[in-house]
Amino acid sequence: MSVYLDYNASAPIDLRVLDTMVEIYKNNVGNADSRTHCFGENARAVVEHARGQVAHLFGVSTSEVYFTSGATESNNIAIQGLKEYAEKSNKRHIITTAIEHKAVLETIKYMASQGYEVDIIAPDLSGRVDANVILDKVRDDTLLVSVMHVNNETGIIQPVTELGEELCRRDVLFHVDATQSSGKLVEEIRGLRYSMLSFSAHKMMGPQGIGGLILRRKSYKIPPIRAIILGGQQEGGIRPGTIPVALTAGCGKACEIAENEYKKNAVHVYAIKEKIMAELNNSGIEFHINGNQEYCMGNTLNVCFTGVSSEALMISTKQYCGLSNGSACTSKSYSPSYVLAAMGIPLVQIENSVRISWGPDTLEDYMVDNFRNMLKVAKEIKN
Ligand code: PMP
Repeated sequence: MSVYLDYNASAPIDLRVLDTMVEIYKNNVGNADSRTHCFGENARAVVEHARGQVAHLFGVSTSEVYFTSGATESNNIAIQGLKEYAEKSNKRHIITTAIEHKAVLETIKYMASQGYEVDIIAPDLSGRVDANVILDKVRDDTLLVSVMHVNNETGIIQPVTELGEELCRRDVLFHVDATQSSGKLVEEIRGLRYSMLSFSAHKMMGPQGIGGLILRRKSYKIPPIRAIILGGQQEGGIRPGTIPVALTAGCGKACEIAENEYKKNAVHVYAIKEKIMAELNNSGIEFHINGNQEYCMGNTLNVCFTGVSSEALMISTKQYCGLSNGSACTSKSYSPSYVLAAMGIPLVQIENSVRISWGPDTLEDYMVDNFRNMLKVAKEIKN
């Protein structure tokens, strides 16, 4: 059977998470916002327990955690939800990077279409943006700086710690899309200074369709966010709609597991990376790694196989590996990765690049066997 190597698109659910959710689906009925019966109270208790688990992982208070359907929605709320404040404060300048997920980039492009001025900063060949270039762009009317923690295609860690230290001294909101680092770079996130942070449970072996937005309090006040859809007062009025009780329980459990196991997981995924590198080096195939590995996550590699089209490789090695060549959110039809293009990588190399990502439950030997078979096919394609 093919080995799944696309964890950055979505990680498989941890069976302990699934058990928690099944238990809730079987034994809990009701709406967490029903106040007239104990069914509602019990559902509320499940949600608040989960909120506590999320808060504990991120090192924030429960009143700073807002459940959403995932990072796409969190990113939209964090950005579009600022419109009213932007108009009142006359701050209409936004800074972001060229390698953000489309949930940030397209939302900011929409803001540009509404009259906001936008600076989009590109990374260099390392895959990292320069914090100073971003800071130099900050003006008196800068509303928001939005920078992802870890890029989903390259695994490169961005300088959000440095940015947070500087931006917290200025009157600028700082949003971090931490979808790929949550539950992994636990200590770094806990020490981070930010106003808003987005995450999705399914990238840390939780269920799909749930995530959150963390809104940090400053002088007891959360960032000036308004809901972007209307229809209810759930989640402090910031995210209307019936809260999915079992999904929140799954999200909370995934956070608890990540908190207990992230150190062990980091060692495991890094050991796999070393195995993959050894296989690549021994294969005789011409390759190079995109992005500076000094800044790369242990669970991701973005590899260019010289002279081997990524589309051809993925199709002809489906029986061995599930790889990708870009974000699943933009992969309906093939277009060369905008992330690699922003790094200044030539088109021919982009077309030959694949993303490999794995996780805590990836079986080393099984992965290596399949990866080796994939490399053999890559060599055949080239010849
Ligand atoms: N941001 C990043 C960095 C991501 O990798 C993803 C998922 N590919 C998202 C946001 C969107 O997450 P979701 O699809 O769970 O809403």
